[in-house]
Amino acid sequence: MTENQRQDGEREVAPATDRRPAEQGPGLRPSLLDPLFAPARTLPGIGPKMAPLIERLLGLPERPARIVDLLFHLPQGGVARQLRGSISEAPPGEPVTLGVTVVSHRPSGFGMGKRPHRVLVEDSTGDITLVFFGMPAARVEKMLPLGSHRYISGRIELWDGHRQMVHPSRIVDEAGLAALPAVEPIYGATEGLTSRAISKLAHAALERLPVLPEWQDPAWLAKNALPSFAEALGAEHRPEDAPPPRPEGAEGPPPQTPARRRLAYDELLASQLALALTRARNRRAPGRVNAGDGRLKAQIEAALPFALTGAQARAVEEIRDDLASDRRMLRLLQGDVGSGKTAVALLAMASAVEAGRQAALMAPTEILARQHYERLSAMAGPLRLRLLTGRDRAPERRATLGDLAEGGIDIVVGTHALFQESVAFRDLGLAVVDEQHRFGVHQRLALGAKGEAVDILVMTATPIPRTLALTFFGDMDVSVLDEKPAGRRPIATRLVSTERLDEVVAALGRAIAAGERVYWICPMVAESEFVDLAAAEDRYADLRQEFGEAVGLVHGRMAGPDKDAAMERFAAGETRILVATTVVEVGVDVPEATIMVIEHAERFGLAQLHQLRGRVGRGSRASSCLLLYRGPLGQVARARLEMMRETEDGFRIAEEDLRLRGEGEVLGTRQSGLAAFRLARLDSDGDLLEAARDDARMIVERDPALRSERGRALRVLLYLFERDAAIRLLGAG
Ligand code: ADP
Ligand code: MG
Repeated sequence: MTENQRQDGEREVAPATDRRPAEQGPGLRPSLLDPLFAPARTLPGIGPKMAPLIERLLGLPERPARIVDLLFHLPQGGVARQLRGSISEAPPGEPVTLGVTVVSHRPSGFGMGKRPHRVLVEDSTGDITLVFFGMPAARVEKMLPLGSHRYISGRIELWDGHRQMVHPSRIVDEAGLAALPAVEPIYGATEGLTSRAISKLAHAALERLPVLPEWQDPAWLAKNALPSFAEALGAEHRPEDAPPPRPEGAEGPPPQTPARRRLAYDELLASQLALALTRARNRRAPGRVNAGDGRLKAQIEAALPFALTGAQARAVEEIRDDLASDRRMLRLLQGDVGSGKTAVALLAMASAVEAGRQAALMAPTEILARQHYERLSAMAGPLRLRLLTGRDRAPERRATLGDLAEGGIDIVVGTHALFQESVAFRDLGLAVVDEQHRFGVHQRLALGAKGEAVDILVMTATPIPRTLALTFFGDMDVSVLDEKPAGRRPIATRLVSTERLDEVVAALGRAIAAGERVYWICPMVAESEFVDLAAAEDRYADLRQEFGEAVGLVHGRMAGPDKDAAMERFAAGETRILVATTVVEVGVDVPEATIMVIEHAERFGLAQLHQLRGRVGRGSRASSCLLLYRGPLGQVARARLEMMRETEDGFRIAEEDLRLRGEGEVLGTRQSGLAAFRLARLDSDGDLLEAARDDARMIVERDPALRSERGRALRVLLYLFERDAAIRLLGAG
């Protein structure tokens, strides 16, 4: 995760985002930390030219780059200054320092062309081209006079079979070499701001680091041989002063040094502590008993056309235990597509009704709200259900609002319309929120505020790898539906090149003649909804030419009623091929659909492919999924699609997606500013995350108000990592 990716604003997507800089201000922050939160431009050596560059690298729209941001901008690695071999033997991709003679210059010439300035250099074993973009020829020639001997550091890469080095990190003569530190840190730089310049600033920033109390358990630090926070930052930014990080000759990317581990753990502990405090507050919050004698629940369960799976029964028990206690429930129900979350939600809501309360189920879209409503109605027995969406006509809406307020409705199902101000309940006991990712934490809270001590159940069909679940939902208790209802048949998944589109269309013709139903999902071209739409409409026109009236279309820009009508025609079998943009992604259930075609599958996230594929294979008939791709596929793209062919296990797919693409992509939060961590990396520090979770829970158990000596130090930690919203939960003291 780079700094730049984090700068894309701070839209809220999931809980645990108490990192809202706008709200923070200095406020209660201990003055001890003030020097670290001073603007970076107050450091010596930052003039009017450099200041904007620093802002671009580390600033956010709502706040300037601060000294702490510089300190947390860790180097990506270190360059060892000792000479390493010769041109012919230097390993590509690794930092090397070479002694060379300058052979020739090929300047970039005039005009608009982006041709770089190239310099050919050699030693006794071979030659290599140094490449400079956007640098005046005079400057390059001054650094590398023809015929001179120079020492260069950087990474060699192979380009078209030739060895080259783009923008060497260092070019020095004999005297310069002697003056170099043994190890120099290399930073992620930005245009106009070199790694060296950042290194100097980081040194200046280190000077501002106050003496901070130790917030980690000293015994734990000793056991793991970890340095103090200040020592760790020092080791990162001044590697030349630190003992060599690893044995001579070690290979691979920058290792998890004790310094890195220490800093990662600090950050993880801060986030887990914030979550643990939130969770503890929720649990302390007085709740109400939202379950009765079990009569309604038993009645509904008995009338279900199926027996609950073991996982469903377990989840229902866990939820009912929470409801029956007088603590506030905040629980996440995680279950893959088709695992049967709806029935679990219904039984939970029935419990609240038993206790004389109302329940609400909130879905992210109209279509889903409607479908939930219909399916719940079919199972709801004596419960009085009602649908409330933004599309209700005024008289209908008035009637619904009246009945809600008077208690004439037990369960209301709806969209965002549910948390509008005009909506009042007689007595809301339980709110169920489907598909967490589409709602922000604020909306969840808004719904919770519609009643007194409302219990909250969040349902998500996105399998979330354990590490991410801890990161983003650590304030919740979790129930997992890890077992599918019996009788599901596997979905045959195939990868097909778009070059074979004709064959695919011919096969579909045979399939619909045999009574099958087909989803055809059109590519996401990202950025522009219009482009997505054009692609879907083109495909629709093509298929329409082939199959006539049997083809329907549904997309995100259709008016709500048209969308529903298109879905309904497909569900009823009036249309047999439904061309869609990704609106069918979440939850829509047409058990008769058996074929899923996904065009440009390589452009979708794995989790999304998994969701889409889950739309078929819901009935008892054999189903298939065709992943159409446009070749040639890169290695990662191919690995991802093959993963889809290999397994239907959503959790495995999610773990793999995390490994291949990183956390931001998996949660779809990369653009949202939710990128979790600045120092920790979930792929390599996942083990620390679990330790931090346990540590945090223990701390909160023993010292819930953070008053002990360590507790007070931990407050500093929370402020340092800007998780201080959690401190407000502690109240005064
Ligand atoms: P989810 O919302 O988790 O994707 P649903 O609640 O929509 O899953 O359930 C998917 C389908 O499985 C529905 O048609 C539902 O009636 C059915 N179903 C749910 N639980 C069971 C069960 N225990 N046995 C058989 N079928 C079930
Ligand atoms: Mg569902």
